[in-house]
Amino acid sequence: MALIVQKYGGTSVGSVERIQAVAEKVKASAEAGNQIVVVVSAMSGETNRLVELAQAVQQPPNERELDVLLSTGEQVTIALLSMTLDALGQQACSFTGAQVHIRTDSAHNKARIQDIDGARVKAALDAGKVVVVAGFQGVDEQGNITTLGRGGSDTTAVAMAAALKADECQIFTDVDGVYTTDPRVEPKARRLRTITFEEMLEMASLGSKVLQIRAVEFAGKYDVPLRVLSSFEDGEGTLITFEDDPTMEKAKISGIAFNRDEAKLTIMGVPDQPGVAHKILGPVAERNIEVDMIVQNISQDGTTDFTFTVNRGDFPKAMDILRRTAKELGAREVVGDDNIVKISLVGVGMRSHAGIASTMFQSLADEGINICLISTSEIKVSVVVQEKYLELGVRALHEAFGLTEA
Ligand code: ASP
Ligand code: MG
Repeated sequence: MALIVQKYGGTSVGSVERIQAVAEKVKASAEAGNQIVVVVSAMSGETNRLVELAQAVQQPPNERELDVLLSTGEQVTIALLSMTLDALGQQACSFTGAQVHIRTDSAHNKARIQDIDGARVKAALDAGKVVVVAGFQGVDEQGNITTLGRGGSDTTAVAMAAALKADECQIFTDVDGVYTTDPRVEPKARRLRTITFEEMLEMASLGSKVLQIRAVEFAGKYDVPLRVLSSFEDGEGTLITFEDDPTMEKAKISGIAFNRDEAKLTIMGVPDQPGVAHKILGPVAERNIEVDMIVQNISQDGTTDFTFTVNRGDFPKAMDILRRTAKELGAREVVGDDNIVKISLVGVGMRSHAGIASTMFQSLADEGINICLISTSEIKVSVVVQEKYLELGVRALHEAFGLTEA
């Protein structure tokens, strides 16, 4: 008997009819002799609706209370799915995050799971029930409700799978797998049969919205076999593997990720001295703002320019902090731009291929696209460009690297 954790996203549980379809699928998996734990998101659009309600009464909303509010979305879907299963003659039992002790730290709105007590879930499974767990939510040591950050239900599913030592964690979503790039931007994108954890991590962190990044990290760390599948069509989806698939002809590039959620900030004319980078980024980190790319220019006249990127939502806050830092450091100027995007090539095959970057720059140049920032790591090359060039850039690169269907 296999233990499978299945996660269904917001679109998959977006209406009573869809919940019905999920219930049929879950029931079929259970009847095939598996123990099934289902993790669900809120109905599609619900979390956004709740965020808007919160913003209508307080700007920015109190973080603790926002979590109390947001967690209600998933409480609706666990109950509805359990009832639907029950009506189909499949015993089921719903649990909130607190009820199954998904214990997190206290970082409201972006909490991290620290521990899950699987006992209650196991008992329900052993009693022949399908267990339905609310995604995205947990509880801190003091009993406060927390949420895991947008898209956090994926992480709940993976953490559940790790805690229960599940045989597979299946993420059912509105796409049938992981693609070479977002098919809405490049219709010629192809589904990948497998992708390595490393690549998936890059694709996820670079803004490919298929899986939440923490979920992929978690799965990699705890050896959870992870598969992305469609909730609407049958198919094998994409399996996330630990090794590059040796049977496949190795492509240098597995995929192109992009992120619209970017903004860049530059502080100009700061003293080129030890400790300055820390003085600039320390206050940013203290406010829990994640910094992505960091570029420091060579020094001219003992001063230097320092650029970094943040999520677009953090841009105003980061600008305020940077202006204050600029005063303290006697910097010349602070400038920012939140009309930028990041496009990245990802592939484990790239390690031995120095020509990737130059092909990338060439094909962007051929389209007249100016590159604002560049960064590289072992398995990726990223560029920041003006937002209006996103589609053009992604399509040009998809073609240039032979990712388009033959
Ligand atoms: N409902 C939450 C969100 O919309 C969590 C999730 O869907 O995974 O972000
Ligand atoms: Mg989601």
